[in-house]
Amino acid sequence: MLKGVKVLAFDADDTLWSNEPLFREAERKVAEALSAFGDFDYISDELYKVEFKNMEDYGFGAKAYTLSMIENAVNLSGGKLTGEQIMLIIESGRNILHNPATPLPGVEETLEALQKDGRYRLALLTKGELHDQERKIKRSGLGKYFSHIDIVSKKTQDEYVTLCAEMGIEPSELLMVGNSFKSDIEPVLQLGGWGIHIPAEMLWKLEHTEEYDHKKLFKVKTFKEIIDILL
Ligand SMILES: [Mg+2]
Repeated sequence: MLKGVKVLAFDADDTLWSNEPLFREAERKVAEALSAFGDFDYISDELYKVEFKNMEDYGFGAKAYTLSMIENAVNLSGGKLTGEQIMLIIESGRNILHNPATPLPGVEETLEALQKDGRYRLALLTKGELHDQERKIKRSGLGKYFSHIDIVSKKTQDEYVTLCAEMGIEPSELLMVGNSFKSDIEPVLQLGGWGIHIPAEMLWKLEHTEEYDHKKLFKVKTFKEIIDILL
């Protein structure tokens, strides 16, 4: 069924370790501190608009998110935000950068089994801020399982074409494992590659997209199930 697959590429955030819940926790904490200016849903909707507007300039990640939270709070308070409130937002954002990146259940054993089996080369392709992603990879202790690690600012078809070129394979020889249909799965299917989708408990609004079935796509609930497909 997986005829010709040579490289398994893995997403990191919310695939190998949990990440999105830390963003949601920061959002909740900041909304609580700003409750004088609106309820959670209102503050959250306004924040999303600011994030969307800033995307082109800031890209993805915790630092971009912190700046957007500050901008949103300044707007909502009519410019009356206090230094104390700004510090609370900064510290809430900093907490996201302290993600311990503890591997999710089954991740380490599965990567070890795949490496030991040896029939595929393993790559890591993660989107975000270079410094933050590098530190999470280090903290996770998972770097040793990958023969190739790429940190990119977005995941479109171009980034996957580059990954394939760097690893000397055709896109049809690539299988991508990840939690985001939009970033991890769809661009690879469109190039003729394979996908294993492992939806996470929480998905960032900007990653929402229509999902569909495909003959080169598998969907599983837990990380260790990928072994049944791959070995
Ligand atoms: Mg992810």
